[in-house]
Amino acid sequence: MADTDFWTEGEPVVDKAAPDGPIETRWERRKFAAKLVNPANRRKLTVIVVGTGLAGGSAAATLAEQGYHVKSYCYQDSPRRAHSIAAQGGINAAKNYRNDGDSVYRLFYDTVKGGDFRARESNVYRLAQESVNIIDQAVAQGVPFAREYGGLLDNRSFGGTQVSRTFYARGQTGQQLLLGAYQALERQIGLGNVEMNARHEMLELIIVDGKARGIVVRDMVTGRISTELADAVVLASGGYGNVFFLSTNAKGCNVTATWRAHRKGALFANPCYTQIHPTCIPESGSHQSKLTLMSESLRNDGRVWVPKAQNDTRRASDIPEDERDYYLERIYPSFGNLVPRDIASRAAKNVCDEGRGVGPGGLGVYLDFADAINRLGRKAVEAKYGNLFEMYERITGEDPYETPMRIYPAVHYTMGGLWVDYDLQSTIPGLFVVGEANFSDHGANRLGASALMQGLADGYFVLPNTINNYLASGPFPKVSGNDEAVVEARRQVEDRIAKFLSINGDRTVDSFHRELGHIMWEYCGMERTEEGLTKAIGLIRALKEEFWTRVKVPGKGEELNQNLEKAGRVADFIELGELMCIDALHRRESCGGHFRAESQTPDGEALRHDDEFSYAAAWEYFAADGRPTLHKEMLEFEYVHPSTRSYK
Ligand SMILES: Cc1cc2nc3c(=O)[nH]c(=O)nc-3n(C[C@H](O)[C@H](O)[C@H](O)COP(=O)(O)OP(=O)(O)OC[C@H]3O[C@@H](n4cnc5c(N)ncnc54)[C@H](O)[C@@H]3O)c2cc1C
Repeated sequence: MADTDFWTEGEPVVDKAAPDGPIETRWERRKFAAKLVNPANRRKLTVIVVGTGLAGGSAAATLAEQGYHVKSYCYQDSPRRAHSIAAQGGINAAKNYRNDGDSVYRLFYDTVKGGDFRARESNVYRLAQESVNIIDQAVAQGVPFAREYGGLLDNRSFGGTQVSRTFYARGQTGQQLLLGAYQALERQIGLGNVEMNARHEMLELIIVDGKARGIVVRDMVTGRISTELADAVVLASGGYGNVFFLSTNAKGCNVTATWRAHRKGALFANPCYTQIHPTCIPESGSHQSKLTLMSESLRNDGRVWVPKAQNDTRRASDIPEDERDYYLERIYPSFGNLVPRDIASRAAKNVCDEGRGVGPGGLGVYLDFADAINRLGRKAVEAKYGNLFEMYERITGEDPYETPMRIYPAVHYTMGGLWVDYDLQSTIPGLFVVGEANFSDHGANRLGASALMQGLADGYFVLPNTINNYLASGPFPKVSGNDEAVVEARRQVEDRIAKFLSINGDRTVDSFHRELGHIMWEYCGMERTEEGLTKAIGLIRALKEEFWTRVKVPGKGEELNQNLEKAGRVADFIELGELMCIDALHRRESCGGHFRAESQTPDGEALRHDDEFSYAAAWEYFAADGRPTLHKEMLEFEYVHPSTRSYK
């Protein structure tokens, strides 16, 4: 691919930590080959972990349990309020408790296929292997997974699979898992092995002699800036879906930690791969700052439909059965309502584009539980989904036991993130990235219930085995707070804060964020085109210029200042948004969450081009000429050969 006006191409990036040989033994062999650090030496080593969600919380607790000294950071007032607490539906594991044909290999197969053949086989196989250990770990911690009458753990199905392998705790799986990880973390805080710093935001990465050696943080209550040093840094800072302004993510989720590392040399992979979740409560007006997810688990029993006729404004109950189109069951008979998220989202968009959407503005489809209530009884439905139904009613004022829910796709998860090798190490030595913040295991599409699995596999099992290999190559020279690189990183943060406060323009930070979100959703959302993406890049560049001349950030730096916090995050989102559009523009194929209108089959399904695009796109930060550099990591498939994904 030639250089273009928008990007240049550099050398390929290679995963040097990747093991070869039979896939079943790769992880075992990598663990055995990794160097160890003896327990007495671990006490002398410090690891910074940014983030206390499932990935960061589990990583910090486990590293401390191993004997390392850990410094943990989060911007919430308590580590257990990380966004992971919002996860509803469940977590996958290849336990095969249902004896329905599941296995490590099947989970591996489903996940590679579900990711539309854009993830590494080795990583995904390891994920499937570790999935079974996660459940044992969580049960040992007392996580109250749902159980069947006989006492065994219960399972349900999620999209893209034909087996029941999703473990859950009603609609609060993330909350219960996070309480487990948090208790493990608290134990280590109590023992003095973890130093917890809540309400501290990482604003810069410190690199000394080419290695990640610390971070610059701002105390969000007092505004105090400090430099924090360590032997290695782990980023577990979550996803960047809020670049779209409206998403199902918690309002605070942002890209700053990974973006600051990207600016300092860490490659950012597949930024355009965004997961749009099909079952969210439709937007109700411009006052909204957030969208609400209705868990995918609801598609186990809810049936998705729209009226057959266009512009049908009758109430759902007045539309007879033969005038309804259960379009997922019709188009995809073998997976029906449980097709993967990208397919279900696009199908919803298509029927709404045809004028068959329901509710205000015609941007909604029905998710109907009438059949399930008739079949199972209201009590059984309540036991499975009660809290979700209640949440829906509280938000919409409609009772889903009586009338079908209205749902519409919304931004939910970002598969892209910092590029990491098999050891979860970024292109900056000593900088490791876990959970949603890295790009590793989901390819172009994430199957439901697999983010929790990946975050916990990374934190409890993978990182604690691979980081030793890096730390064993120490001891690293002690870094002083007066080191030039440390002073410079701190100065960069102070200058940036001073700049935000000095502009004193006439537009709020939120207004910029909302405008960026609108551009991203319009041109880099569910469907992308060459023309739209080119336009979006121009619009974002203009927005960036306007931001740095017209933004108004009231207040001071040395106090609680939420506008200042948001300004930093939105400035980074604007740059990320441009990179996402460039990534989407360069990928002239449709795959997973990336649907290019120019690349579809005659019946409107996504059309991949494996001959040209079977790689992870890892980007180097914009050069002085304004163009980022593309480094390709070629993907090889020895076990699951790329085929057209068909759920029909
Ligand atoms: C509504 C909803 C429901 C979901 N349900 C499911 C589900 O059922 N199953 C499933 O598998 N997945 C689900 N997901 C996805 C899943 O919840 C997330 O992908 C996952 O929890 C991310 O975990 P994490 O540890 O990587 O990041 P997070 O939980 O987002 O944690 C990020 C942490 O980083 C900290 N942080 C970030 N930036 C900074 C900074 N600059 N300085 C200091 N600290 C920082 C934050 O304070 C926080 O502690 C859901 C997502 C949503 C939005």
